[in-house]
Amino acid sequence: MLQERVQFLIFRDAAYQQCIHPDCGAQFGIEQVVTGCNICGSLLDVKYDWNQAGTPTDWSYYQNKWGRRYAPLNFSGIWRFHELLPFATPEHVVTVGEGQTLLQQADFVSKYVGMDTGNLFLQYEGMNPSGSFKDNGMSAAFTHAHSVGAQRAACASTGNTSASLAMYCAVSQLMKAVIFIGSGKIAYGKLSQALEYGALTVQIAGDFDDAMKRVQEVCRELGIYLVNSINPFRLEGQKTIMFRVLEQLGWEVPDWIVVPGGNLGNSSSFGKAFIELKQLGLIDRVPRLAIINAAGADTLYELYENRGVRWNGGHIDRNVLQSYYDELDTSNKKASTIASAIEINRPVNFDKCLRALDFCDGVVRKATDQQILDAKAKVGIGGIGCEPASAASVAGAKMLREQGIIASSDRVVCILTGHQLKDPTATVAYHTTDQDKFNEVLGVRGVSRANFANRAVAVSNSLDEIIKAIKLYG
Ligand SMILES: *Cc1c(COP(=O)(O)O)cnc(C)c1O
Ligand SMILES: [Zn+2]
Repeated sequence: MLQERVQFLIFRDAAYQQCIHPDCGAQFGIEQVVTGCNICGSLLDVKYDWNQAGTPTDWSYYQNKWGRRYAPLNFSGIWRFHELLPFATPEHVVTVGEGQTLLQQADFVSKYVGMDTGNLFLQYEGMNPSGSFKDNGMSAAFTHAHSVGAQRAACASTGNTSASLAMYCAVSQLMKAVIFIGSGKIAYGKLSQALEYGALTVQIAGDFDDAMKRVQEVCRELGIYLVNSINPFRLEGQKTIMFRVLEQLGWEVPDWIVVPGGNLGNSSSFGKAFIELKQLGLIDRVPRLAIINAAGADTLYELYENRGVRWNGGHIDRNVLQSYYDELDTSNKKASTIASAIEINRPVNFDKCLRALDFCDGVVRKATDQQILDAKAKVGIGGIGCEPASAASVAGAKMLREQGIIASSDRVVCILTGHQLKDPTATVAYHTTDQDKFNEVLGVRGVSRANFANRAVAVSNSLDEIIKAIKLYG
């Protein structure tokens, strides 16, 4: 134990923050609270001197920790990989057993997507303690917040970030949570968590993009620690989703990772994970990355696939971005989709996401609400289930398969970002609503029918009628 402790102290010296812009590259200490480069305004990375950190480059080292899972840091699916995100000392780590997730070989869903049997896998991040992948990043950011002595932490949220922050605050009693939500859609499962965990919940008259802007201003003004994914420590925790995917595939690299894209923190962190694993020699090839927008919140798709914006070694064409965002302003276009977790038009991690797409030879697609809800129904029939935004990954995989970009023999991992019970309203509406009322009830446009609806059968309270109905429909 003493030996482990000494090693971790060395780790901390090997970590720093660095501006991602190649012409700037300003460095900041690990103990500094700067959510962006205060010289050029770009995003920051958490970076490591791997040699100094002494990070083991043999998977068995990490695998062996599972045998010592009586220790909370070994049990956690994040901190089991501590040496691959060595910015914190163990006494600051805040863990509630996050990251106990399942990679399911989903043969039923595989048929729907058009893959060969055995080649489609679903990574169930809904199994995290607050029910979404956000716990991966929150455990890391919260740990950093704790290590710098923060008293309050805040986020803007479409729901899951706030649920996760509120949970870490409540369970650790280390900080007060302040959450900003827009006045539009927030799934009740998520809102109920924030309220029950006792977070100060500020509902502003505006959408997520408005809330995101305000929370940054408020954090600056009041010195509150910001835990949105603009915070580079969040992304360190989210890298471990990829480590666990690899672990469950026996450390074999799949051909594709398919992930929904909202604020683009997840996709950015996956890219960073693969860049680092390749550097360390823990993998010898890199999977391709597919990021799926909702059609009603398709900024990344539009800029990457239609307007040709690329990472370009960090020299991103800002003019194209600016004119796109100007168009959004002029036309007053707001994000709108049933997949509320990705209802975002101004993704804060856009630059890092381009870097990930560049490194992983990525593609971007957009899925309609119809495609998302039908895919969600199929994931549900296949078992476990997910919330609408998560199903964008499966809808996207199906699309890429139809376009011949994914081959049926490829090994594909779709990330299911959030739990089925987060948004029961969408699920029940899909299965019970009459077709002509569908859009009205769901508050969306363009969903023509619930292709895989499972309707409740209404019968009178009579044994004969019940038996007749079961024989008829069963
Ligand atoms: C936050 C969230 C997303 C979007 O992830 P980003 O990292 O912001 O792109 C997708 N699905 C669910 C369920 C989420 O909670
Ligand atoms: Zn900079």
